[in-house]
Amino acid sequence: MDLTEGFVGTVGRTPLIRLPRLSAETGCEILGKAEFLNPGGSVKDRAALGIIEAAEAAGELGAGGTVVEGTAGNTGIGLVHICNARGYRCVIVIPETQSQEKMDVLRILGAEVHPVPAKPYRDPDNYQHIARRMAEEMPNAIWANQFDNTANRDAHYRTTGPELWEQTAGRIDAFVAATGTGGTLAGVSRYLKDRDERVQIVLTDPPGSALYHWFHHGELKAIGDGSITEGIGTSRITSNLEGTAIDDAIMPSDQQAVDRVYHLLRDEGLFLGGSSGLNVAAAVDYAHRIGPGHTIVTILCDSGARYQSRLYDPEWLASKGLRAS
Ligand code: PMP
Repeated sequence: MDLTEGFVGTVGRTPLIRLPRLSAETGCEILGKAEFLNPGGSVKDRAALGIIEAAEAAGELGAGGTVVEGTAGNTGIGLVHICNARGYRCVIVIPETQSQEKMDVLRILGAEVHPVPAKPYRDPDNYQHIARRMAEEMPNAIWANQFDNTANRDAHYRTTGPELWEQTAGRIDAFVAATGTGGTLAGVSRYLKDRDERVQIVLTDPPGSALYHWFHHGELKAIGDGSITEGIGTSRITSNLEGTAIDDAIMPSDQQAVDRVYHLLRDEGLFLGGSSGLNVAAAVDYAHRIGPGHTIVTILCDSGARYQSRLYDPEWLASKGLRAS
């Protein structure tokens, strides 16, 4: 028999997909780690499991416990699945600007969902601060704190990094990824650089985020008008991202991300969300910069099903000045 143990045993070990059209177009191997195939549907299943297991190991979370988190959706989805599997209660604080699909699925899965007005991080009523206060006030509860709890990055160091190394037989020239918490980029970057310091780490930043300018000019400054992508972009260096080796930073436009999303659907057969489109746009851009003959790996973060009423609705796109291509 070849079995996995429950939901938790099914997290990770995702396929690494070669994208044939984009590889032919660039002369590079363009490879996408199929994180949308995780059992909770996104790259965040790994972080959610890493955070819960670290809290259990530290004796902070046990029978009858509650996990509280502020999340744009995917981390919450991963957390509530694992809470169900482990017998914990799950409380999610989410900015009300996030897609209806993600809020609906959180409720259906069994989370207690608290939508709150979107506020900047410096505001005490930012969703992350609200989640921390709720956890502090609840007995037998932990705040998952995905942004600054480095159990998030450790999960990627322990799993995503080694999987990529094995799947490519150690032939990776560049790893390209956008950041929300930074856990994926930071954990994978550390692992790949430990194996071979020549691997280039390329940060992808959506319009409106502050990291692109920070990388090129050393100062956190939001550039561009904001983005329709969800779950990525930031105004600060999280504890997860801190100290990460980054070699280059790219900021594709939203239209480039949308173009890639539709291309991935029509020509590669993959139905993906906006952050995957941004990642692939940056991977192709980087391939053109470094020329043919290289292997470039990126992350296919979540499925397009989470964004049917936005990214996949031409009228909604048009209302944002974007076109379905
Ligand atoms: N894409 C999507 C759709 C996400 O939800 C997230 C996480 N918020 C990311 C990418 C970025 O992952 P990380 O938090 O590891 O930087």
